[in-house]
Amino acid sequence: MSSSTSSTQYYEAEVNPLCLCRIPTLARKRISWTDDNPGRRFWNCRMSMTRKDCGFFDWLDPELNEHYKLTLLRLRREADGTALADARMKLASAEALIAKLKLKLGDVK
Ligand SMILES: [Zn+2]
Repeated sequence: MSSSTSSTQYYEAEVNPLCLCRIPTLARKRISWTDDNPGRRFWNCRMSMTRKDCGFFDWLDPELNEHYKLTLLRLRREADGTALADARMKLASAEALIAKLKLKLGDVK
C-alpha cells in the first residue's frame, strides 16, 4: 500500500490506524510543527521516541502548498513572540511582587 493511498484513506475516515507493534495498538494522532510540514497532522506509534517505537508513521493531512506553509510558519513565529512577551510581563510582575513581599518581611523583623 503506498503512503499517499493510505493517507487519503485516513484523511477521509479519521479512524486511528493500528501501528506495527508486536501487539498492535491504535496509533496516536499528532501535529507536526516542522518548517517543512507546519500544522500537518500525522499518525505515529504511541511508543514513539522510546525504545519500543515500532516506527509506524503516516500522514493524516495532505501536504500543504507553499502559500499555506509560509502563512502558518509566520503565524507560529508571531504566536511565539506574543507568548514570549506575555512571559516577560508575568516575570516582571512576579519580580515586583517578590520585591514588595521582601519589603514587608523587612518590616516584620
Ligand atoms: Zn507501535
